[in-house]
Amino acid sequence: MEKLNNLVRLKEVETKRLYYYDCYQQEFESRVLALTEYKGRPALILEATCFYPEGGGQPSDYGEIDGVKVIEVIEAEGRIFHLLEREIKAEKVKGKIDWVRRYDHMQQHTGQHLLSQVCWEILGAETLSFNLGEEVASIELSIGQLSEADKKRIETRAAEIIFANRPIKIYEVEEEEIDRIPFRKKPVKSGLIRVVEIDEFDYSACGGTHVKQTGEIGLIKIIGEEKIRQHVRLFFICGWRVLKDYQKKEQILTQLASSLGTSIDQLQVTVNKLQSESKAWRKKCLKLREELNQYEAAKLMAEAQESVIDRTYFDRSLEEAKQLGLKIIHSGHFLVIFGVKGEGRDHLLLARSESIPVDLRQWLPWLREVFEGRGGGSDSLVEIALPGKQPLEEVVKEVKARIFEALSAHS
Ligand SMILES: [Zn+2]
Repeated sequence: MEKLNNLVRLKEVETKRLYYYDCYQQEFESRVLALTEYKGRPALILEATCFYPEGGGQPSDYGEIDGVKVIEVIEAEGRIFHLLEREIKAEKVKGKIDWVRRYDHMQQHTGQHLLSQVCWEILGAETLSFNLGEEVASIELSIGQLSEADKKRIETRAAEIIFANRPIKIYEVEEEEIDRIPFRKKPVKSGLIRVVEIDEFDYSACGGTHVKQTGEIGLIKIIGEEKIRQHVRLFFICGWRVLKDYQKKEQILTQLASSLGTSIDQLQVTVNKLQSESKAWRKKCLKLREELNQYEAAKLMAEAQESVIDRTYFDRSLEEAKQLGLKIIHSGHFLVIFGVKGEGRDHLLLARSESIPVDLRQWLPWLREVFEGRGGGSDSLVEIALPGKQPLEEVVKEVKARIFEALSAHS
C-alpha cells in the first residue's frame, strides 16, 4: 500500500472499473493502491472497483469496504477516490455496493436512454442534459413545449420497447469506427468508445451502469415538466419508483374518496358537485352577512351614547369588521374603533364619518410607539396590525380614551 506522498507514481495506474464489464457484480476484492485524503475524508484508491463514481448525471454508489461505510465515490485527476467514514489500513480489501441504490440508478439511467430516443423519434427533440435525483430524474429537451397528447405518445412508445424486452448490449469501438454506429449524439471522446445499445433502437456513448434488458426498466412514467431557458425539462421515474408512486397515489385517492363517501371512479363528479355547492353557499353567506351588517350597524348606532363607537371582535375577519364600520360611518355622524382578534396578530380599525373633520393618521406615531402597531391609510380610515402582545380589549379602551380626549378638546 502506497501513502499519499507517493501518489505521483500512481499516474500510470488506472483503477479497473468492474462495472464496465458487469453491472450486476455487487462484491469484489481488490489490492489497495493508496490511502489518501479527499474533501477532508480518508479516501482509498483501489486496483479494481465495483463502485460507480459520480458522473454523466448519475450519482455515485454507496456501500462498504471492509465493513467501513463508503460515503461518496468521486472521479478526479484521473483517479477514483472512495471516500470513507473512517480510515482503513489494509493491503487488500473487500468491497460491497449498496445494491438497492445501484439497481435503482440502473433502471433510471437505462430508462433515460430509452426515453431520450423516443423523444427524438416522436418529437425530433434532442436531450441536452440528464439529472438523476434521489426521487425523480429529468432530461432537458431541445424543444419549447410539449402537449399532454405528446406525453402520452412518448409513454406509450417507451412501454412498447420495454415490453418487447429488447437486450441492451455494451461494447467498445475504436474512435475511427464511430461513423459506423448510428449514435443519437456523436461522442467527442477520443480512444476507445463504450457503446450502450438498446437493441437496434438507441445507440449511446456512455460510461454508466445499465440493466441487461428493457423489461427491467419496468415502466417509464412522466410525472411533470417545467420551462427552463427556451427548453422543456421533463421529470420522469422508472422501475420500482413507478410502483411506489402508484401505491402512494392510490392511497391518496382511496383516502380522499373514503372521506367524501364515494368511490375513486366517482371522485371527480363528487368534487365538482361539492365545489358548485360551496360556491352557492359562499354567495348565500355573503348576502346574509350583508343583511346582518345592516341590523348590527343600526343597533350599534341606536345604542351609541356618544359619537365614538368601539367594539372588539373575536369571531370575524378584518374585512367583515370593515364592512360593518363603513356602514356605520356612511349612515351617521360617528367615529368607529374596532379591534379584530386574529391568529398571531390583531388588527385595529379606525374610521370616521365625513362630518367629523379629524385626520386619523395623527395617531399613527403614538400607536406605533405604544403598541408596536404597523399600518396606515387615509385621513378617514386607517388599519393597524398589532403583534397581539396585549389584550385587545385593553388596547381598544386606551385608544378610545386617547381619541375621545382629543375630540373633546376640539369641540
Ligand atoms: Zn448510460
